[in-house]
This record gives sequence, structure tokens and C-alpha cells, in this order.
Amino acid sequence: MKLPGTDFSMLGPQSKAFLNDVHTLRIGGERYTATGGMLDVIDPSSNTVVSRVPDASAADVDAAVAAARQALTSPAWRGMRPYQRADAMIRLASLLEANSQELAEIETINSGRLIGNTRLFDVEFSAHVLRYMAGWATKLEGKTIDISAPYVPDGDFFSFTTREPIGVVAGITPWNVPLCQAVWKLAPALAAGCTVVLKPAQQTPLTALRLADLALEAGFPPGVVNIVTGSGAGAGAALVAHPGVDKISFTGSTAVGRLIARQAAGSFRKYNLELGGKSPVILMDDARLDDAIPGAAWAIFGNHGQNCCAGSRLYVHERIFDQVVEGVCEIARSIRLGPGLDPASQMGPLVSRAQQERVLSYVEAGRRAGATVLTGDAPVDSDGCYVRPTVLVDTDESMSVVREEIFGPVLVAMPFHDEEEALARANSSDYGLGASIWTRDISRVHRFVRGLAAGNVWVNIHNVLDAALPFGGFKDSGVGQDLGEESVLAHTRTKAAVVRL
Ligand code: NAP
Ligand code: MG
Repeated sequence: MKLPGTDFSMLGPQSKAFLNDVHTLRIGGERYTATGGMLDVIDPSSNTVVSRVPDASAADVDAAVAAARQALTSPAWRGMRPYQRADAMIRLASLLEANSQELAEIETINSGRLIGNTRLFDVEFSAHVLRYMAGWATKLEGKTIDISAPYVPDGDFFSFTTREPIGVVAGITPWNVPLCQAVWKLAPALAAGCTVVLKPAQQTPLTALRLADLALEAGFPPGVVNIVTGSGAGAGAALVAHPGVDKISFTGSTAVGRLIARQAAGSFRKYNLELGGKSPVILMDDARLDDAIPGAAWAIFGNHGQNCCAGSRLYVHERIFDQVVEGVCEIARSIRLGPGLDPASQMGPLVSRAQQERVLSYVEAGRRAGATVLTGDAPVDSDGCYVRPTVLVDTDESMSVVREEIFGPVLVAMPFHDEEEALARANSSDYGLGASIWTRDISRVHRFVRGLAAGNVWVNIHNVLDAALPFGGFKDSGVGQDLGEESVLAHTRTKAAVVRL
């Protein structure tokens, strides 16, 4: 039976009105009419256009950066005391919750994510991040340092450091969890007193526009939060190249991250890069399989595999390999595909036709290289961008399906003989974002936590994030961190002051 697209009669009136709005950029607290053209916004459950947003030009980006620069030192923003910044952030968190239904519906239609997830993760987790980061606004401190300066014979000094906002931050985000990604960029920057120009992914620009409206309502002065929708090659590149930007906070692919790092190096701009992953899930033969089998399945099938930390490489002890793979395949076959807005759906479409084709081409490449597709290769009868949960075996690290990030619901499962082999193969990737180990042996837990070359390691669970935990990758998975104290401090610059007494 052909899968239907989104049932728009399920949408609330606010969401309908927002989709039908004639969208503009958000610059300097104004609805700003872009000088570029417009971009279609697609519902990937049916591949139909549901809205249109501006495709910002370099001139529009210029206007946004100018507004952010002006706001940075304006009395309205610089004059806000730390507790007032915190209050505004907490108000924004409450406004996200008050508008949860609308935000979740818009996000679901635009990204294909399940409505339960957009409500819980995108909206509630975003509110949690804002509240956590609000606490930092009042806790940014310098030090007093008793200096010696032996080459100043009669010197008597009072010396201290201060932390200043780093300046204008360019946030550039991907399409997989759009509202959350936007908030992860905004919240630490606002806590530190920075101003922001955010460019959301061109596939999923809608909730960022709504977020900017709510930020104004929460009391952030005009120009503190600016949104430029548009393409990576256009608005994104213009933002990265702009001399008025002090820091680039990017989440996306390793390829684009590398481009940005090269460009930022020339001008000594600061940056943090949250990039791709190919995260291993390691099941030892003493793992509690009732938890570990569904854990491994949802580590890859959660958010349709479009998670930077997706557990896309499954390494299983050879003694339990067949049992685990059969269990994961059973879950894969049982997952009900459908539009994200339908509460009965367990997996929605991928974000776009291009992403669907990319994912399917990886499965085909795996098959050509000798992999066996155990489940997932039956086509889906739909106009949407669906890919079935897919499991491959007979794979090894020479194949692109094992080495490269697919960013879809495709798992490669491989047996290993002992702990040493498991650790070596888990670490054989160019990426180092996440990793999970499933075992009941406490000493083994610590050997893996120490040995895994990944920025985020989980034990007997996969992909747990929190506002208080720094989140970032090793190796080709990035530079710096989102979330936690680390991300706030990375939006400050340290000034050392010496007073001669
Ligand atoms: P992407 O293609 O790298 O795009 C990310 C963002 O960069 C988009 O807004 C994109 O605009 C923009 N962009 C593209 N080219 C640019 C350029 N030359 N200059 C400036 N900006 C440019 O990534 P994606 O396909 O949206 O997202 C998937 C990737 O994100 C995966 O690799 C995934 O692992 C990674 N990711 C990482 C994390 C993490 O925290 N480590 C979290 C989520 C996702 P367009 O929309 O026009 O392309
Ligand atoms: Mg892309």
C-alpha cells in the first residue's frame, strides 16, 4: 500500500499560518526583505513545497553582520546586567514551551522527524539548554594573579584577568535536529554576552525564524539574534568570509568544516566545528542483551539514522553475533514508516530526495563490494524520501559503508574475537565523535572509556546528551565543543590587566 504524505488537517491554526507566511529574514529586530531570491521549503513525506524562505545574498549577510556588530556594544545589550541576560534566556525557554505545539509541528513537517521527538527533544531539550546556559551568564569570572615581573625592580602590581564576550558569532547549522542545533549555537553565545547571526540549513530554515521572533518577545534587544536563511554556498560562505564576524560556530559535515577551518585560519578567526561521525557500538559477550539489542537498533535507527552520533558500526562478540544481528533485524523489520506528524509512525522520511538517494547509493556500493543486505532493501511505495531500516553483514573496514558517514538508517554489523580487536577496530575510523560499550564488567568499562578515541563515550546506553555535558568530537569529528561550561568559555576572550600601584 502506498504511504500517504502528511495529513495537513492535523495541523493547528498557528502552524498553518506560519507555513503560509511570506517569510523574511530577521535582521536588527526587523522583518527584513532579502535582496536575493526565494527557496522552496519541502515536506519530505510527500516532496511537496510547504513554504518559501529568502535566499539571502552577500549584501543581506552584510546587513545582518552590521546589525549584530552594532548590537554588540549597544547600551541596550552591553548595558544589560548578567542577571538580566539570564532572565531573558529563561523567558525564551518558557516561550519555546508555550509555543511547543507549533514549533514541533513545523519542525516535523519540514524535517520529517517524528512529532513525539520534535516536542520532547527539539523543544523541551532546547528549553533545558537555554535554562542551563542562563545560569552561566552570572558565573563568568576572571582571576586575580599575583605577578612577579622581576625585570621591574620597584614594581608593585595588582593584576587580574577578565572574560569578555568574544564578539559577533556566526552560527551555521545542519538539518538533522534544526531547532536544537540553533539553540546550541545561540545559548552559550547569549550567556557570554555575544550577538549572533545564524544561518540554518537551507532544507530546514523555519523554526530558526520563529526562534528569532520569540527571542525579541523574550526581551533580547534588536540585533542580538539575527537569522539569515539561504544556501551554504551563498549566505553561508558570505558569513564565513565576513570580516565583521569574530567566531564561527559550525555544525555540519567534515568536508564543509575543513573549508571553514582553512578560511578562518587566514584571518585568525576563532571557530568550533562539530562535524561528522561513524560511531561504533561494541557488544561484549557479557552484555545484558535485553537492553543491548534494542539499544543497538535504536542507536542507528533513531532519527532515521540522521544523527551525528548514530551508532552506525556495530561490533559484536563472535559468540553472540548471530543472536544479536537477528534481534536487530527483527526490530528493523517491525519499524513502521510514515509521516512524522502521524503519531503511529515509528520512523519518518529522510530529510530530502538527495539524502535518500545518497543513502541508497551507499547500500548499493556496499552490496557491490561484497556485503550482504539482511533487511531493508525492499523499495518503499511512496512519494516521500523513505529508506527502510537496513542491516548489512559481511562487511569490513575496507568498504565505504564502514568507513564513511552515511547519515541514514543503515547499520553494518561485524563480529570480533576479543577486547583488543574490538577496541582497535572501533578506533580505526577517521572519525571520533561517539562510541558505546555494552558490558557488565566494570574493569572492562574503564579500559574502554580510557581507550576509545571519541569525544563522547557511553556505557550500556548510546547517545545521551545533556546541556551540562560538553559535546564534541576527536579527529575528523571536529574542534571544540557545544554545550557545557566549555562552550560558554569558548564564547569569551580573556584579557589580562596589570595595574601599577
Ligand atoms: P553540511 O552540508 O556540512 O551543511 C551544514 C551547514 O553548512 C548548512 O547550513 C549548509 O548550508 C552550510 N554550508 C554548506 N556549505 C557551506 C560553505 N561553503 N560555507 C558555509 N556554510 C556552508 O551538513 P548537513 O548535510 O547539513 O548535515 C549533515 C552533517 O552534519 C553530517 O556530517 C553530520 O554528522 C553533521 N552533524 C554533526 C553534528 C555534531 O554535533 N558533531 C551534529 C549534527 C550533524 P546548506 O543547507 O545550503 O547546505
Ligand atoms: Mg549538506
